Amino acid sequence: MTIGDAAVIDRAGLDRLVRVLRAQGYRVIGPQMRDNAIVLDELDDRVRLPAGWGVHTEPGRYRLHRREDEAVFAHSAGPGSWKQFLHPPHRKIAAIDANLNLEPAEEIPARTAFLGVRGCDMAAIATLGRVLGGGAHPDPGFAARRAGLFLIAVNCTEPGGVCFCASMGTGPGVSAGYDLALTERIDDLGHRFLVDVGSEAGDQILSSLIAEPAAESDIATARAEVAAAAGRMGRAMPNVDVREVIRDSRESPHWADVASRCLTCANCTMVCPTCFCTTTEDVTDLTGDHAERWEHWASCFELDFSYLHGGSVRQSGESRYRQWLSHKLGTWHDQFGSSGCVGCGRCIAWCPAGIDLTAEVTRLADLLEGADRDQP
Ligand code: SF4
Ligand code: SF4
Repeated sequence: MTIGDAAVIDRAGLDRLVRVLRAQGYRVIGPQMRDNAIVLDELDDRVRLPAGWGVHTEPGRYRLHRREDEAVFAHSAGPGSWKQFLHPPHRKIAAIDANLNLEPAEEIPARTAFLGVRGCDMAAIATLGRVLGGGAHPDPGFAARRAGLFLIAVNCTEPGGVCFCASMGTGPGVSAGYDLALTERIDDLGHRFLVDVGSEAGDQILSSLIAEPAAESDIATARAEVAAAAGRMGRAMPNVDVREVIRDSRESPHWADVASRCLTCANCTMVCPTCFCTTTEDVTDLTGDHAERWEHWASCFELDFSYLHGGSVRQSGESRYRQWLSHKLGTWHDQFGSSGCVGCGRCIAWCPAGIDLTAEVTRLADLLEGADRDQP
């Protein structure tokens, strides 16, 4: 096998893949069931992949359901994203004692493998790479975590009710950036995975498995299933120039309408795989002999996020929602060369008010169009 080739492994081969990675010193992160959701966490001998479980999602709602088959990756994005492992929610940046000796701040696992990264989340990892790993001052912690990463992507054939990656150009298939990419197939020929090789590291791991070269017909059918999934997305970003709509909607009355529903709870930013904002906190112990500096995720929905001398700039929920959407879909392009949204739908499912950014952009665009029509 070499880069660009495709092979087939059976269901036992998937478990073997995890064991081979672990035997080679990788900490393997993958999907698993916990707290009535499919979450991402370390896979070890005691943890099973979520075989036979799917999810129903809609605005403000996420429910597991039992499937009639034993598919492992037939679930769309859950509440957690891979961001938590590349850009942890809490991390110690520095520690110092009373004699000004600096202590090691954090240990970064040398080798980590992500199993089951969908197209939207592959795009999110690339986005984080541009934001945190690029520019004049890359985050060294992010860069070290990203450098040790082995990526096993999954071509999605089961989009969820809040998914819209196809309209963002990020899925449902994955095209680059992976070491291995799986397409799960269950039919009369059994439960198996088409494996695309994306790197030499992927080729080396695959050579440790019992893999058959893929038949042309199997490759064609798998590709067709992924292509068909693009037509089954639960929603779509409207086919308008979203940047322009956001830019021209600065004074739209619709922001007040969203604010009347938004709780400013920040859930959307916490679950978003690309939101990257943080705050820092200095803490000391009671003796004063030890001080630490911590970094925590922060959100533009928090009142003190925009605190400048004397007060917060964005006092209202209206201004905070507008800030989030304007950055995510508009000025993100100017800063980082892409949209900040990859169409995973997490912010829609996990918003307690069921606010759906695709619907809000549609409404903003409709209002602008109406305003244009009203022009003499
Ligand atoms: S849009 Fe939804 S998730 Fe985001 S802050 Fe408002 S209520 Fe919370
Ligand atoms: S804004 Fe929402 S749909 Fe877009 S990437 Fe973030 S969580 Fe996913």
